[in-house]
Amino acid sequence: MNTTEQHKQEKHPLDVIEDLQSYAEEGLSFEEIEARAGGGEWERLKWAGMYTQKQDDFFMVRTKVPGGYLTPEQAEVIGQAATDFAVAPEEFGGEEQNELWGDAYLDITTRQDVQKHWIRVEDVPELWERYEDVGLTTIQGCGDSARNVLGCPAAGIDEEECFDAQPVIDAVTDFFTGNREYANLPRKFKMTITGCVHDCGQSQINDVGLVPARKELEGEHYYGFHARVGGGLSDGPRMASELDVFVLPEHAVEFCRAVAQVFKELGDRHNRGVCRLRYLVEQMGPETFEEAVRARCTVDLPTAGEGLTVGYRGDHVGVHDQKQPGLQYVGFNVIAGRMGGEEFAEAARAAKKYGTEETSIRLATDQNFLITHVPEENVEALLAEPFAQEYSPNPGPFSRGAVGCTGNEFCNYAIIETKQRTKRWARELDERIDVPDDVEVVRMHMSGCSASCAQPQIADIGFRGETVKLIGDATDGEGDELVEGMDVGLGGSLGTDNEFIDWIETAVPHHGVIPALERLFEVFAEEKHEDEPFYAWCRRVENDQLREIMQRADAPVARGVAHGD
Ligand code: SF4
Repeated sequence: MNTTEQHKQEKHPLDVIEDLQSYAEEGLSFEEIEARAGGGEWERLKWAGMYTQKQDDFFMVRTKVPGGYLTPEQAEVIGQAATDFAVAPEEFGGEEQNELWGDAYLDITTRQDVQKHWIRVEDVPELWERYEDVGLTTIQGCGDSARNVLGCPAAGIDEEECFDAQPVIDAVTDFFTGNREYANLPRKFKMTITGCVHDCGQSQINDVGLVPARKELEGEHYYGFHARVGGGLSDGPRMASELDVFVLPEHAVEFCRAVAQVFKELGDRHNRGVCRLRYLVEQMGPETFEEAVRARCTVDLPTAGEGLTVGYRGDHVGVHDQKQPGLQYVGFNVIAGRMGGEEFAEAARAAKKYGTEETSIRLATDQNFLITHVPEENVEALLAEPFAQEYSPNPGPFSRGAVGCTGNEFCNYAIIETKQRTKRWARELDERIDVPDDVEVVRMHMSGCSASCAQPQIADIGFRGETVKLIGDATDGEGDELVEGMDVGLGGSLGTDNEFIDWIETAVPHHGVIPALERLFEVFAEEKHEDEPFYAWCRRVENDQLREIMQRADAPVARGVAHGD
């Protein structure tokens, strides 16, 4: 049994939630918490939605937002809490802690969560009280249990959806949150549920994906779901496998429970490197896995019907008509997902001011957010608000597709800085590169290590952090220099033509990347077919040729070697 598993067996991870109250009342340091608990509490605190950050005694706290759906009141509470609690102490720079954002900011994540940094354990009970008042939680935001359930950020308003799956997302969330039976799984368990044909909830890369389908049962036509299982990214990326089942919306909770039961019983608890559900699906094969689910499911699962998924259409940035006549939604672009707590609260207040009673804030998996149910005549005034100038619904193509993980500012695993770099590069690339008019977005995703929090494998351009040794002229190594750099991958996408990225060039020093991209986009503009996105061109061109184009750039791309190679 590995150490993490041992910590989970010694004390049920959900018990940490009650204990946290006393840690907070006594204002215990992290070391004192560990001593009081007898070790392993840092692992169990994940079930409270808390991760240790690089700086001792401060935490990252993750708020779950099922389906990315927030009422304006909830969004305002989240923004205000960032302003009040996500405050960097003076010894770490205070308000100047981060050159671009200062402090008191929040991060919208690729799983429709909100992350805040610099949280002290003594502030958590008050944060929870404020959350409880508006129906928010951080419980099981992290840890080996059911994580935030994803959905389409335009559920209930998109003109092309088959049905609104948000009530199903909420029911599945309610079932798993605080459920001791399923709170200690072999590893994290990620679900996504959508009733829309465009699958913006990314069913191909989740442990369980429910996507819309239709089936005739006893002479009646029903909408429900088809099920995909075993998708995921990180070191062993895998597209999910389709099961031969049709799941009625009222059976979705039971279906997800049965999958969790299979994972709980048969998943590997020894080697954390291969504990995720995708390894179990791969090992058993989708057919045997399906039999195991059917055997544990208390409802009948008919065989699959007619799948209705068309595939990813693109993001929700910009002004769009809703299916409700006279109403529009606006997708705002948040580069790398980071914005000030006060700005987020401002957006929430604007949503209330210009929207209707149904208005909501929706978080998207590309780290952007939407304000929904805005009467057409109010859209202009909403767009004139100060926050809308910085988080424009009409950004350049690189800004529009820029996603960044936490990086070495806070993350213990990170090799490089990511958030500031993602924002600076996106803005710089929008200035320097004249992207062809028929390319609205270039998805550029930056992860600070080989984990996939920024989902580089599904981007046009993906980065994962590396330390790079620049070789100097001296033969004795004097003059060699270690710099931040990255592996560069090209050609990933999700949708009708799913494919993971190919890692084209390794250990590119950070200063070599923009010149290399400029050269690639020059050739792309010359060679592309009409309406051909960048990822599709990258797939059409041989990898050796892409590498050669990148190395043609006037930058030391070829001179770096990964540290330790
Ligand atoms: Fe940290 Fe790596 Fe995840 Fe980035 S991708 S947040 S560096 S673990």
